Amino acid sequence: MPGIEYPYLPQGREMKYVASDHPFMVEAALAREELAGDPSFPVGIVMVKDGVVVARAGNGFSRGRQVHVCPRLVLESPTGTGYELCGLHDASGHAEQQVLEGARAAVIEPRGSDLYLFGHWWCCEPCWDAMIEAGIRDVYVVADAHERFSRELVYAQTLKPSFKTVAIEVGDGILRDELAEVVEEIGLRVVENDADVRCVMGDRGMECWPRGSKSAAYTVQGGEWMVRQVRNVLRQL
Ligand SMILES: [Zn+2]
Ligand SMILES: [Zn+2]
Repeated sequence: MPGIEYPYLPQGREMKYVASDHPFMVEAALAREELAGDPSFPVGIVMVKDGVVVARAGNGFSRGRQVHVCPRLVLESPTGTGYELCGLHDASGHAEQQVLEGARAAVIEPRGSDLYLFGHWWCCEPCWDAMIEAGIRDVYVVADAHERFSRELVYAQTLKPSFKTVAIEVGDGILRDELAEVVEEIGLRVVENDADVRCVMGDRGMECWPRGSKSAAYTVQGGEWMVRQVRNVLRQL
């Protein structure tokens, strides 16, 4: 679409657009609901051949919704970078490559088929390489995808804590005050006992323990960034 700057687009290719109520886009939206294993930036996809959906997948290895504290989000990696930090966000887990893999596993030849992608507005270089090699014809996204699926709008919907209370176990001092501030900033309440999540200062840094779990969901290393990183962890729990 004219005027849109894609972070990556191979020579001679273009993104194609359909309305969000296009039947194949509706199928892709359903795949996003059911299959995407990435809770923070879920993407669904279907492969269409001769007018029929022949394969469907979600990013995050099609594992379905799960709790995942992504190091890329904790460390605020710029878009398109930091995939090596995270097993779930590795390019081979992107929806485009997952649907190709699914098709191959089902002995469906992807050559000449189209992909309908719901949840994103561009495709990364490894995915384009895989799609071109597999002979994919066109990739369709929804007409307003670059706005609807901007990082800001998607994260506003997905990076909301699913719990209410936090205990901060660090002793009194500036760190405690700063943590209490960011905890309240994202709509959580600081409590002394029986918290949904405990933030505990350990040997290796600040550990975030969801109630009842046997290990910390994430350990933020110390340093000046720590408070902001703890906030980034809590938003994903
Ligand atoms: Zn991740
Ligand atoms: Zn990709």
